[in-house]
Amino acid sequence: MPEKFSCKRCGACCRWEGAVKVESEEVDAIAAFLNMSVEEFLEHHTRLTPDRQHLSLLEKDNGECEYLVTAPDGLPGCAIEPVKPRQCREFPEKWNFPNWRELCGSTEK
Ligand code: SF4
Ligand code: SF4
Repeated sequence: MPEKFSCKRCGACCRWEGAVKVESEEVDAIAAFLNMSVEEFLEHHTRLTPDRQHLSLLEKDNGECEYLVTAPDGLPGCAIEPVKPRQCREFPEKWNFPNWRELCGSTEK
């Protein structure tokens, strides 16, 4: 793990291919944050991962996460920042994948 990792807020990690897993308690928190029922959130905003073992957030047609937005400062932001899934919160320190350094916009790798 990079000792000097510094996120540049490029948004690449919200655009690349793959599941954004959500756990059960995260589903409850995100649904509440979005002012929708858990049932509505599950039906319209999640899908099963290919291994059918987890739930994932959905993607937009262009492949980026449904919740990737432009923040007030003009940089990429997360529409569910206070309740974003653990996978998002823990990248890259506790959750990552083999070639993440090639994709992450951080220059301090
Ligand atoms: S939930 Fe937020 S932080 Fe996680 S991938 Fe989507 S936009 Fe990015
Ligand atoms: S890809 Fe890396 S630098 Fe870009 S927003 Fe994600 S963690 Fe930050």
